Amino acid sequence: MTDTQFPNEVQPFSIEGANVRGRLVRLGQAYGEILGSHDYPEPVGNLMGELTTMTAALANSLKYDGLFILQTQSDGPVSMMVVDVTSDGTIRGYARHDSDSFAAGYEIDKAVPHIMGSGHIAFTVDQGPDTERYQGITELEGASLAECAQSYFRQSEQLETALLLTSDAANKRAAALMIQKMPATGEGAEQRLKLTPEEDDESWRDAVILMSSMTTEELLDPGLSSWDLLYRLYHETGVRLYDNKPLKFQCRCSAEKVLATLASFSPEDLADMKSDDGLIVATCEFCLTEYKFDDDSLAAHRAR
Ligand SMILES: [Zn+2]
Repeated sequence: MTDTQFPNEVQPFSIEGANVRGRLVRLGQAYGEILGSHDYPEPVGNLMGELTTMTAALANSLKYDGLFILQTQSDGPVSMMVVDVTSDGTIRGYARHDSDSFAAGYEIDKAVPHIMGSGHIAFTVDQGPDTERYQGITELEGASLAECAQSYFRQSEQLETALLLTSDAANKRAAALMIQKMPATGEGAEQRLKLTPEEDDESWRDAVILMSSMTTEELLDPGLSSWDLLYRLYHETGVRLYDNKPLKFQCRCSAEKVLATLASFSPEDLADMKSDDGLIVATCEFCLTEYKFDDDSLAAHRAR
């Protein structure tokens, strides 16, 4: 089923009378296209939905021009996941998993320490060749991806963050609701309301409590708009919505980029990649597009 009603967007907002801002991300078709023909077991597809919407929420809260990447690496059944989103709003991602762990009849524990194991999650901002890459890395600490991200923000960024992630791979709908306490110093600090520390803490706690009343059913309900959801949650305090940003799936692979990568491989590695008809076959891990080259086209690329 293609779900044209469900939004593909990030909706930024702030809560009136509090130093709290947030992002609501909901992805339907874009999430479906990321799952594509990967044929992930359902728990893997659901994790991808969580990571995808979380990446979009975090990316939208940063000022950058280029690429924001979230990548996990761990020793469990889901050993690697990556999602990247451009400042233009195109998003893509894929996961690597051990098929045997998801074989029929095997019930997998969906808590992060089991399904992903121990490892780390890396946040990268890449703004092009002549700029410095920003990277933050943290251990996977928590029962869910949301908890892992929350502990990252608390420890590394000293930024109070509450995150709600949900996804339904079968119906291709995923959502993230994130609120953050506005920083007291640094960028954005000048927008803070002048509240006493007690008022500040109380309004943050209230925002978190209200947020936790949101159900996953509501977040994934195609009959409710982003405005409906945020109004339901915060109508008593008041909520302000900013321009929403549409997101769409798009891969950035090309024959040219694949050739450039292959040109750095050893002859032995290339020989291993050859099909019976002597062509070098390389598949884009994001979109599964298959690229085929003969020795001559690779030689021609190297000669340039
Ligand atoms: Zn691709």
